[in-house]
Amino acid sequence: MIEKLRDSIEDQLQRPLRDLRVSVTDRCNFRCVYCMPREVFGPGYRFVPRSELLRLEEISRIARAFAEQGVRKIRITGGEPLIRRDLERLVEMIAAIEGIEDISMTTNASMLTRERARSLHAAGLKRINISLDALDQPTFQRINDVEFPVGRVLQGIEHAQAVGFNRVKINAVIRRGFNEHSILQLAGHFRGSGAILRFIEFMDVGSTNRWQLDEVVSARQMADIIHAEFPIVLVSPNYRGEVAKRWRYLDGAGEVGFIASVTEPFCGDCARARLSAVGKVYTCLFATEGHDLRDLIREGASDKVLARRIRTIWMSREDRYSELRSSTSATVNRAHRVEMSHIGG
Ligand code: SAM
Ligand code: SF4
Ligand code: SF4
Repeated sequence: MIEKLRDSIEDQLQRPLRDLRVSVTDRCNFRCVYCMPREVFGPGYRFVPRSELLRLEEISRIARAFAEQGVRKIRITGGEPLIRRDLERLVEMIAAIEGIEDISMTTNASMLTRERARSLHAAGLKRINISLDALDQPTFQRINDVEFPVGRVLQGIEHAQAVGFNRVKINAVIRRGFNEHSILQLAGHFRGSGAILRFIEFMDVGSTNRWQLDEVVSARQMADIIHAEFPIVLVSPNYRGEVAKRWRYLDGAGEVGFIASVTEPFCGDCARARLSAVGKVYTCLFATEGHDLRDLIREGASDKVLARRIRTIWMSREDRYSELRSSTSATVNRAHRVEMSHIGG
């Protein structure tokens, strides 16, 4: 189990609350087929109006309340977080919260200029994860379904490294029939680069990506493919509950990781809550219902009331969807599941 603090609250399965993912927008400039497919998120799609989004001060207040309940790590995500103006101010506010030890961001890097990378770093962002599923333009484009040069994402990665982000992580989702060939290409490209590549199994998040189990390339299969070309060996986790399984290249070219959410679920160690862009808390990536905090704070709730609400939400949590996935029908309730772009990947 995860290390426990004395004042820690626990859910129904004795899991503490440690991580918070904050989605700052439901919008994105990409239309990745596994996340925001164009047939659903097309021109007629109604994104959240600005007045319904949490303001930065509201996010910061909620983040502080979560920190008081044990959260130590905050990740800013979306949608595409860099769409949100003034993100630097949010990072500064979060960095100033007592108890927060780590602030990171997940981005598609399409808007990560050198200046933006520098200002985010200066504001206190500690780590950055960049999503990149292919190196060749046709595959990259087939997955994100927009015309955007993959070279610009590679530049974004360079900018992040140049301004001082260490061990930038590159997240690649592999979906059978789309980009299996990217496994070796990405591994070859990022070996020895200082960036850490992590492969993510294609997940049945939301209800729009038409997920099928046979489209999942398992972490084991991916590791075997890499091992045949660039021999790797499993290394022990950095800390208990680490989500990615880490492997080391035997020739010293660094590490590669795998996030096996489908084939090797890690619900037992899941200490993560998610805050949507409209202020709903979700206690699982596969949740169908969120718990609203926005109206609560807009109606003038005190810090004490907010804290009590967060405690109640966490202490009644029983989620372990990925562990149950194999024993239930994978399609159960899919129609009502919240989309990843709403609650943040
Ligand atoms: N737009 C940003 C980005 O793409 O990095 C942040 C939000 S995105 C929802 C966060 C992560 O979720 C991305 O790395 C993306 O690849 C991943 N993701 C989205 N849908 C997924 C799915 N169905 N299975 C696995 N990963 C998924
Ligand atoms: Fe946008 Fe990220 Fe979803 Fe792709 S994965 S559509 S970049 S939010
Ligand atoms: Fe956590 Fe839900 Fe994922 Fe399990 S399925 S690891 S409880 S987010």
